[in-house]
Amino acid sequence: MDEELSLFRDNVRKFMTREITPFEEQWDAQQYVDRALWTRAGAAGLLCTDVPEEYGGAGGTFAHEAVILQEQARAGNTSWAKGVHEIVSHYIVGCGTPEQKRRWLPRLASGEWVGAIAMTEPGTGSDLQAVQTRAERQGKNYVVNGAKTFISNGHHCGLLVIVCKTNPVEGARGVSLLVVEQPAEQPGFRRGRLLHKIGQKGQDTAELFFDDLKVPAENLLGGQEGQGFYQLMKQLPRERLIIAVGAITAAEAALEHTLAYVRERKAFGKRLLDFQNTRFRLAERHTEVTLGQVFIDRCIQCLIDDRLDAETASMAKWWCTQKQCEIVDECLQFFGGYGYMLEYPIARFYADARVQKIYGGTNEIMKELIARGLE
Ligand SMILES: Cc1cc2nc3c(=O)[nH]c(=O)nc-3n(C[C@H](O)[C@H](O)[C@H](O)COP(=O)(O)OP(=O)(O)OC[C@H]3O[C@@H](n4cnc5c(N)ncnc54)[C@H](O)[C@@H]3O)c2cc1C
Repeated sequence: MDEELSLFRDNVRKFMTREITPFEEQWDAQQYVDRALWTRAGAAGLLCTDVPEEYGGAGGTFAHEAVILQEQARAGNTSWAKGVHEIVSHYIVGCGTPEQKRRWLPRLASGEWVGAIAMTEPGTGSDLQAVQTRAERQGKNYVVNGAKTFISNGHHCGLLVIVCKTNPVEGARGVSLLVVEQPAEQPGFRRGRLLHKIGQKGQDTAELFFDDLKVPAENLLGGQEGQGFYQLMKQLPRERLIIAVGAITAAEAALEHTLAYVRERKAFGKRLLDFQNTRFRLAERHTEVTLGQVFIDRCIQCLIDDRLDAETASMAKWWCTQKQCEIVDECLQFFGGYGYMLEYPIARFYADARVQKIYGGTNEIMKELIARGLE
């Protein structure tokens, strides 16, 4: 942190209070945020903060992104899938040709287009090499056929990165990333239903279908077939850190809500905080959050310095999301029956946390990646 980041944090907090918190219930009910949120965030300089200015970004670092993620987590906001949007912008920053960067990044930075990435299919999630979506070169286009599921920002996306096979007989080397501009306007693209989830209800999560969807060949990310798997690998540390930053901050916020409650609530003539069980458990959880924040700060600096390796990012993702789920569950217990009522923020923290151990690579896959480095 420094003075500039502190000022930035104040602005982000104001934006959250004004543009997000009052609308959460409405977004939960409709299962997506209002489209205008994206353009407002773009106008406020909150999109693509670490994308170079020449492409419309704010020219900051991942520290700016981390501040936004922390403020979202602190406010209990999971409906705005900004993290996914930024993962997409960094696929383009890191792997796009200069022409692709000029064409796509300014629109992501302004919020004119919302980014989404479609990897997961009904038949495969963890095993990305096994994707079945096929992109066949026909003249100036690729013709794409297949189906994707669980796609965040699938409802609003204006720029969709599709993980597909350009060579179906190859494994990793047959995978490419194709970028679709304004998918909803393309014949051959169809959105399925918005999926009902146990938490993160205001975040749009959709099924997508491609039936002879034509994508211009110049939209192949990086311009070379068979690079998709390596492009995905290159960006995964960022994606995993994004989840970890939100996870540890959400755990911290849950603890703060709980402390406020146990200081006030009385049972058997004393405050809940006066029971030794409460004191010891909260002391343990406070210790874990502090350890997690120190590790995350280190990871953030490593990412800024371009030296965050896949194993360390995997450690951050599995450990922080595991702790988030444990801590939020334990915190909820201190609220008794009120913890189960959605008007109490802790209930929402609980429901929103569970998926963190699943998406962005399951925690089992994270441990597998770390274990490979130990062989
Ligand atoms: C709310 C939400 C949002 C999402 N957003 C996106 C998105 O924007 N884009 C996108 O592409 N995907 C998205 N996903 C999909 C998500 O990334 C996948 O669900 C996840 O990668 C797991 O894949 P799967 O569901 O097919 O589970 P599977 O791969 O079938 O795994 C099932 C279980 O088997 C375990 N397992 C699998 N392989 C191994 C192994 N080798 N060793 C040990 N255990 C293993 C897993 O850990 C898991 O517990 C989202 C999912 C959700 C729920």
